[in-house]
Amino acid sequence: MNSHQINIQPFSEWNPAGDKQLLIAGPCSAESEMQVLTTAAQLVEHNVNIFRAGIWKPRSKPYTFRGCGEIGFSWLKKVKREFQFPIAVEVMSANELKIALDNEIDYIWLGARTTINPYMLDELAKALENTDIPVFIKNPISPDLDMLIGAIERINSAGIKKIAVIHRGFQSVYSAPYRNEPLWDIPIKLKCQYQDLPIICDPSHIAGDTQYIEEIIKKALTLEISGLMIEVHAHPSDALSDSKQQLSPQQFGKILQNVDFQNRRKRTSNNTPEKEAALMKINSQRQLIDIYDEQIIKLLAQRFEAVKEIGKIKKGVDIPALQSNRWNAVMKQCLSLGNEFGLSDEFVTNLMELIHKQSIDLQ
Ligand code: PEP
Ligand code: MN
Repeated sequence: MNSHQINIQPFSEWNPAGDKQLLIAGPCSAESEMQVLTTAAQLVEHNVNIFRAGIWKPRSKPYTFRGCGEIGFSWLKKVKREFQFPIAVEVMSANELKIALDNEIDYIWLGARTTINPYMLDELAKALENTDIPVFIKNPISPDLDMLIGAIERINSAGIKKIAVIHRGFQSVYSAPYRNEPLWDIPIKLKCQYQDLPIICDPSHIAGDTQYIEEIIKKALTLEISGLMIEVHAHPSDALSDSKQQLSPQQFGKILQNVDFQNRRKRTSNNTPEKEAALMKINSQRQLIDIYDEQIIKLLAQRFEAVKEIGKIKKGVDIPALQSNRWNAVMKQCLSLGNEFGLSDEFVTNLMELIHKQSIDLQ
């Protein structure tokens, strides 16, 4: 892969949580002064580092709530003053960036619908030149690692060195029961290429429903992510956008407690930096292997389900389990695929014989 070097500042130097995992929380959208203030007031006790709220919302349908617009900044300034929260908003254009910067916004994020669009990224990159605002880049809607890396490169080429990626899952027909498919191998592959790039997980947009948020956070924490961005609303059922996936402050606190978020500290070690870097690389590759192993087991289970179905049908019409023509064709196809992907004939033969034996036993 021909990737350009990206030149970013170490996360610990600009992470408001220092050496700990970053916690960003707040409503999907700013809706009223009351809503942002009551939400923020209830987030103070949970050690949230950055308050988030969408001011302009890129919605699928035009007649739904599209954000409160500029008036929201006066509300967010109050959040900042009263609770000392730094503030993050989403911007989609040079104009929105300018307004955000004029209104004392501390962090911006680029949404999934922006990261997918090179023209919008170019416009934003140009507008970011000569600023020093940290930028969170959400993964694009589709699982395109090059597109994501391209977005990082574009923003970085404007001189922005405080960059983190937000993993929010991918639109997919296979996402159920989640709103977006996590495809964990994508952020891990990104980490394999860019060890120093912080990756934050947004379980709210992966889940699409509060009931899945905790399990997604647990999974993300096993991958040693650099932080979380979570949607929290004082009254989720009244929310004007993403109502189903927003946690109440109480639910939010409970989940953080269940996953023991506050007590997780970065591991310290006495290794040389070279050894530490090597260990991190090995760790990323192992995380990939774990994901592939999970896929292999799940696929095998699906394969055996199909085998069992055939078994039932064969029984009904008295056809024997073993049919050598079919088996020869299966083996032939797998050997040829194996060749294509660099697997030896011996390995493919052994593996397929083991699978075949189990299939016959099942039938
Ligand atoms: C959001 O964070 O509210 C948002 C619109 O997210 P995404 O771009 O990930 O859909
Ligand atoms: Mn949202």
